[in-house]
Amino acid sequence: MTKSLPPSAGEPAERILLGPGPSPVPQRVLRALSAPTLGHLDPQYLAIMDETCAMLREVFQTKNALTFPVSGTGMAGMECTATNLVEPGDEVILCVNGVFGTRMKDVFERCGAIVHPVEAAWGDVIAFEQIAAALAQFPKTKVVGIVHAETSTGAHQPIAGLADIVHRSGALLLVDAVTSLGGHELRVDDWGIDAIYSGTQKCLSCPPGLSPVSFGERALARMDARKTKPQSWYLDVSMLRKYYTGGGGGGRVYHHTAPINMTYALREALTIVLEEGLPARIERHAAMHQRLRKGLAELGLSYIPKHSLHTLNCIRIPEGADDAGVRSRLLADYGIEIGSGLGIMAGKAWRIGLMGHGSTIRNVDLVLAALKTILR
Ligand SMILES: *Cc1c(COP(=O)(O)O)cnc(C)c1O
Repeated sequence: MTKSLPPSAGEPAERILLGPGPSPVPQRVLRALSAPTLGHLDPQYLAIMDETCAMLREVFQTKNALTFPVSGTGMAGMECTATNLVEPGDEVILCVNGVFGTRMKDVFERCGAIVHPVEAAWGDVIAFEQIAAALAQFPKTKVVGIVHAETSTGAHQPIAGLADIVHRSGALLLVDAVTSLGGHELRVDDWGIDAIYSGTQKCLSCPPGLSPVSFGERALARMDARKTKPQSWYLDVSMLRKYYTGGGGGGRVYHHTAPINMTYALREALTIVLEEGLPARIERHAAMHQRLRKGLAELGLSYIPKHSLHTLNCIRIPEGADDAGVRSRLLADYGIEIGSGLGIMAGKAWRIGLMGHGSTIRNVDLVLAALKTILR
C-alpha cells in the first residue's frame, strides 16, 4: 500500500512584503542560503564569518571588535544584551513608548534588574531631559535602554547626543536598532553607543534568523567585571566571543553550531548594502518615505507619529474602513502584506514597511494604487 501525503499548504507564495518585517529578500540572498553547508569550524566558514563580522562593523559604523550575529531573531539580540549587561539587583532606566520598549522592560526584569521606566505616549519620542531627570533621581543606574526605531508606533527616536548624558552618570547606552540598521542613519561610534542589537529581516532584507550585535569597550569592561554568570548559557557573551572573535588566546572554541547557511545569507545581504553604499541607501529610504507620505496625504490618510521613521509608516485607519478587510484584500488581490496595529494600536493603525529591498518606487506606487482602489 502506498501512503498518501498529508494535505499541504503548498509552495510559499511570492508576496510583496510591506509590513513591519520580514522585508522582501533579493534572489541573490536566497541563492546564498542554498550554498553547500560547511562545518562550523571549517577554515573557509570561519573566513566567511570574519568577512560577515567585518561588514557588520561597516554597517553599524563601529570599530568594536565584538560585533557578531547572535543566533536567533532580533529578540535574541535584546535578550543577549540584557542578560550580559546586568546582574540581579542592578538598576536600569528603560525608555518605554511602544511595544518594543515594553518588551525590553520585561526582558530586563527577567534578568533580575530593577527597572525605572521613562515613558512617553505611544507615537511620541522620549525627550533627553526626561532621561537626564531619571538619571539624577537614580544615580546608581547601570544601563539606559532605548529603541531607535519603535516599529509598533513608527516613531523615530533621536539618539545622537544622548550618550553624553548617559556616560556623565557612569551608565551604559543600549540601543535597539532592529528597524533602523541599514535604513536610517545610525553611527554606533560617533554616537557613543555602548551596546546595540538589530535583526536580519528588516532593513537588511535577509530572512529572519540572526541578530547582529555590537559591544564597545565600556560594555566589555562591565561584562568582564561581573560577579555572577549571565543566567542564559546560550547567550553568554564571555563564551560566545571565544568562537566569534577567537578571543581568549585559545583560538576558536565550539559553543553552539552557528547557523551556517544563514551566515551566507547575511554576508550576501551585507554585500548588497555596501555595494549600494550606506549614504545612498539611507537617502533611498528617505525618498521612498516622502513619496509614500505624499501619496497617502492625497488619499486623505494621516500619520500617527509626529517624527516618523522612513522604514515604517504608521497611519491612522480612516473612519469607516474595515481594518482586516482592507488588509486581506491587499493580500488576496495584490499579494501585498502590510501590518496591523500592535498592542494598544490594534484596530487603529496600519503599518506600511518600506525596508531594504522593499523600499522602491514600484512598491510605493503599487501600494498607493491598491489602497486607492480598495478604499474607494
Ligand atoms: C522586529 C523588532 C524586534 C524583534 O525582532 P524579532 O526578529 O521579531 O525577534 C525588536 N525590536 C524592534 C524595534 C523590532 O522592530
